[in-house]
Amino acid sequence: MSGSPPEDSRGKAFAGGKVLDIDGHNLPPSPAPSTPRNGRKYNLMTELVYTESTDQYNASSVPIYQSATFKQDSASGGGQEYDYTRSGNPTRTHLERHLAKIMNANRALAVSSGMGALDVITRLLRPGDEVVTGDDLYGGTNRLLKYLSTHGGIVVHHVDTTNPETVQAAVNNKTAMVLLETPTNPLIKIVDISTIAAAAHAANPTAVVAVDNTMLSPMLLNPLDLGADIVYESGTKYLSGHHDLMAGVIAINDTALGEKLFFTINASGCGLSPFDSWLLLRGVKTLGVRMEKQQANAMRVATFLESHGFKVRYPGLKSHPQYDLHWSMARGAGAVLAFETGDVHVSERIVESARLWAISVSFGCVNSLISMPCRMSHASIDEKTRRERNMPEDIIRLCVGIEDADDLVDDLSRALVQAGAVNITTDGFRALGSGNTVGDASSSESS
Ligand SMILES: *Cc1c(COP(=O)(O)O)cnc(C)c1O
Repeated sequence: MSGSPPEDSRGKAFAGGKVLDIDGHNLPPSPAPSTPRNGRKYNLMTELVYTESTDQYNASSVPIYQSATFKQDSASGGGQEYDYTRSGNPTRTHLERHLAKIMNANRALAVSSGMGALDVITRLLRPGDEVVTGDDLYGGTNRLLKYLSTHGGIVVHHVDTTNPETVQAAVNNKTAMVLLETPTNPLIKIVDISTIAAAAHAANPTAVVAVDNTMLSPMLLNPLDLGADIVYESGTKYLSGHHDLMAGVIAINDTALGEKLFFTINASGCGLSPFDSWLLLRGVKTLGVRMEKQQANAMRVATFLESHGFKVRYPGLKSHPQYDLHWSMARGAGAVLAFETGDVHVSERIVESARLWAISVSFGCVNSLISMPCRMSHASIDEKTRRERNMPEDIIRLCVGIEDADDLVDDLSRALVQAGAVNITTDGFRALGSGNTVGDASSSESS
């Protein structure tokens, strides 16, 4: 695993038709490099697609090294880049180098799920350490942090991270980690990464600022460029794009931090399998076109709902209260939006009346999804906590896919009408409670 060049006779034999990797190592003909060998950095849409390897047959698609072990050249072992797949596998390495490139990172690590990535990251913590994080977190993140505070002696502060002053007041020299998500999900609130990262590092220079970038992907946001120390995301979502695998990705610039994270992955055995590494690399290549289409569709759907009187949360809409902040950091609005109907039962009926929009947790897939977070992805957060965090029980989340936009809007209109969410007027329809009619808005807590 040291990456030192082979000194034995095999190594020298290789040197005949020798292939040097990007750092000048004389390694076996594995598919290790991903960065263009001519050193040129292309635009992201090109880099997503473009990979190069030193594969012995010049395979266009990087091979799946479905092997747990790699034979050694000598009894003393060593001298080879790979020996055991838990520690390293050529397919995973190729994926990791490709990801590091598109995540503007020095190193990327691929693990078995997004939560696996957070598990690896939180193992940097010691009992007594404090974590400052948001109050509108992904449900699984909330659950893992709760576990750590109950069993691991970690002190977790959930604060409104959309207000940098609140975070400023919560960080101190015991703050070991600040954990952020932007936009938050499902409330679609924006978090000012640079301001918070600066405040955290000022309070404690060794504090690790980690950003969950699942909602935007490296296509739209690079938290490392904004002062974060670690960026991680669920590869299950946009990176893979087809809901056919689970993966997690961690990226860092600090070499020592990278080594610590790799140690945990090797020690606990959560590195991504060769097959899933191959599948994720395949997905990443189409991230650009998928995201462009998904965003365009999301904008269309958000505009449609807003123009019919619904309260819509989407950073692509000028009405979003943090529109300017979002666009100061990101290159796009993403494809997840949320809207409220004012009535939990109406929301339930809308979700159940949709046909094209599949009722499903998760997002980032090529097909469109609809869900009620309080009943599904966020059900692991208890009702009282949800209420404290101003999470409207009637909120509907839409995760927009790459289908035809007309079909998506059409299916949604039909569901709204069928659910009785709108009043039909002479010039179309309006959301209940958004003007000339009185709907049951008693459960709307946030408007
Ligand atoms: C899905 C998700 C995760 C967890 O990823 P898995 O791959 O499901 O483990 C973490 N954060 C966010 C924002 C997510 O949406």
